[in-house]
Amino acid sequence: MSSLVDSFGRKHTYLRISVTDKCNLRCFYCIPHDGIVWKRREELLDFDELTRVARIFAALGIDKIRLTGGEPMMRKDLVKLIAMLSPIPGLRTLAMTTNATLLKENARLLKQNGIKQLNISIDSLRRDRFQQLTGRDEHQSVLDGIKAAIDAEFETLKLNVVTIAGVNEDEILDFVHFIKDESINVRFIEFMPFRNNNWQIDRVVTYKELLEKIAGEFELTPIDTEPSAVAKDFAIKGHRGTVSFITSMSDSFCSTCNRIRLTADGSVKSCLFYPPEINLRDRMRAGASDAEIVEMIKYSLALKPEAHPPAEEIAALENRAMIEIGG
Ligand code: SF4
Repeated sequence: MSSLVDSFGRKHTYLRISVTDKCNLRCFYCIPHDGIVWKRREELLDFDELTRVARIFAALGIDKIRLTGGEPMMRKDLVKLIAMLSPIPGLRTLAMTTNATLLKENARLLKQNGIKQLNISIDSLRRDRFQQLTGRDEHQSVLDGIKAAIDAEFETLKLNVVTIAGVNEDEILDFVHFIKDESINVRFIEFMPFRNNNWQIDRVVTYKELLEKIAGEFELTPIDTEPSAVAKDFAIKGHRGTVSFITSMSDSFCSTCNRIRLTADGSVKSCLFYPPEINLRDRMRAGASDAEIVEMIKYSLALKPEAHPPAEEIAALENRAMIEIGG
């Protein structure tokens, strides 16, 4: 039972932890076009600090933790951290989101050490466009990573596709074909504004447009999901895989939000698009007790807004870059 309840009665059970701001890809919608100042190693929470904070959150009712980045596998000895986190009492699910470039060699190890649910970010099935979008010729390593993840048999395997008008919306049906014979969920994510990520409202491919395009070729059946689920899920006739939509711009889901975030440098973010944050790291290093950390977490949640503002207002906010939050 979560005691992390905000002023709108939302129970928080899901913590997203960014373990690094580093990445080996350069996706234009994630890294600000004016560059980023990478955090120094000592600015990042170390594994003992991360585990301590995770333990405190779990005692408050968090039962799912997702590791994100940057690219989490850029964090040295990540598997060691996973092995430290997975036995935490009360933690039902340990999940991760990766760009899969380093997955081929690590998929089984991640599973063996406790990762149950894996999401892979991939925005193109074409090598040339992948290189255009990410600035790196790593398409084959990502496809190899997806294969390794399928073979490792995670509880769930999902592909996250940020869909951008004029960039990759012509591949929507290709992604649906791609998962025909695989138990993979492909999730189309509406393009969201973060600091200097070239976001414009007319580059958002909305849920309505996505659904019309796919339903024009495939027979879709809605799948019931948990109230706090971010995605709208659909089964596809004749497919093993399923398709989903994350619609924070055209049909937001803030009323049932159960998520809270921890940045790699130890700040609690109560909402993805709400800039104010509470830094735990400095207080921890100054000797704060668990009880004091609990108070800071609860204070952060008390500040949480009811919902994110309209898209254009978000675009004007002085918020962190996507790579510094981890989505
Ligand atoms: S925008 Fe904030 S409140 Fe809304 S779903 Fe995302 S994290 Fe939750």
